[in-house]
Amino acid sequence: MSSPYLSVVVPVFNEEENLPELLPRLAAALAAIGTSYEVVLVNDGSRDRSLELLRAAAAADAHLVVIDFNRNYGQHSAVFAGFEEARGEVIVTIDADLQNPPEEIAKLVTKMEEGYDVVGSVRVKRQDSLFRRLASRLVNRVTSMATGVHLSDYGCMLRAYRRNVVKTLCQSKEISTFIPVLADMFAGRVTEVPVAHAERLRGESKYSLWKLVRLQFDLMTSFSLWPLRLTLGIGVTMATASMAVALVLILGRIIKGHEWAVSGVFTLFAVLFFFIGVLLFAIGLLGEYVGRIYMEVRHRPRYVVRQVFRSPEDPS
Ligand code: UDP
Ligand code: MG
Repeated sequence: MSSPYLSVVVPVFNEEENLPELLPRLAAALAAIGTSYEVVLVNDGSRDRSLELLRAAAAADAHLVVIDFNRNYGQHSAVFAGFEEARGEVIVTIDADLQNPPEEIAKLVTKMEEGYDVVGSVRVKRQDSLFRRLASRLVNRVTSMATGVHLSDYGCMLRAYRRNVVKTLCQSKEISTFIPVLADMFAGRVTEVPVAHAERLRGESKYSLWKLVRLQFDLMTSFSLWPLRLTLGIGVTMATASMAVALVLILGRIIKGHEWAVSGVFTLFAVLFFFIGVLLFAIGLLGEYVGRIYMEVRHRPRYVVRQVFRSPEDPS
């Protein structure tokens, strides 16, 4: 089989409840587009029957390729593995939980034909809880400031990439990264289309609040030195302010005598404690970057693939 025009990459982590609906809908939606296609499903160490379902589907449909990780490495690693395997000219990423309807892929593909390198998507009428939406809004704001890459919707993984962008992504061997932002940094022409968004069909979101916080921290520190500069700024401001306070204390003592200075001790304590807090924060932040450097210099592989399943009809 020659290379297909379209590759769809789907990370799968404990999605046994969604797969029986996802696979036929995806197949129907892609067949309707009318170009040659393949679907690369990456099993990210699922502990349920996902792999079994994926293998059965791949045995029956030559369009499917299944990559099996030996454990859970996270959504972005799974997508990277899919990227390595994908052979299409246009590569689309989509979640397995049917929150982005597969029928919307056609929209992205049509838009790509206008010559864009990346087509993102914005969820209209987002079907998540209010808390989740507010959190996302905050994340969007902070992220676009810190990374200098503006996306309307950082959380929406339904996106299409041209082959050369994906190749460049695969060459970026950093451990923790956020694919949409990285892709937009390398892409020439980027656009976005609105897509529908549904409630997660079945099962729970695989992201806990803690995982989201981690992801946000990752995003900030892997794309900019802005947090470091901010701490530096705070440090400088604090130092200047404390100098002013010290001056006031000294003057107070000279003019009003020691009585005044004794009560000033408490002010001093307050300032000191605040300082210690800022210092600890700065050290923690530095540690985050140092830790990241440590992770990178080891050059460990991002993930381990146990096996790749392709249909026997596919001779490649
Ligand atoms: N996912 C994954 N590995 C993980 C977590 C999630 O491959 O460690 C997949 C998951 O199966 C789904 C997609 O990434 O296809 C998005 O996950 P989820 O729907 O839980 O995220 P949310 O929509 O809540 O942001
Ligand atoms: Mg989801």
